[in-house]
Amino acid sequence: MARLFLLFLIAALVYLVLRLFPPSRRPPAVPPAAASSKLVGCAHCGLRVPEAEAVRQGGRYYCDRSHVPGGGGASPA
Ligand SMILES: [Zn+2]
Repeated sequence: MARLFLLFLIAALVYLVLRLFPPSRRPPAVPPAAASSKLVGCAHCGLRVPEAEAVRQGGRYYCDRSHVPGGGGASPA
């Protein structure tokens, strides 16, 4: 019977410790990289690319310089 009481005591202690110090109090935060890497659609082919990698021309985004109409006809490196 004493064993049972000891088990209960340990369980209660664990419960109290977990209540006082929750193991995972991290908020489900969005990774900081996700906020800056917004996806934009290419105005030519519709491919979605990160805004940082997209070519911006005339207020529109393009996945590659070759998709920019008119200007920016540089050969891909
Ligand atoms: Zn494109």
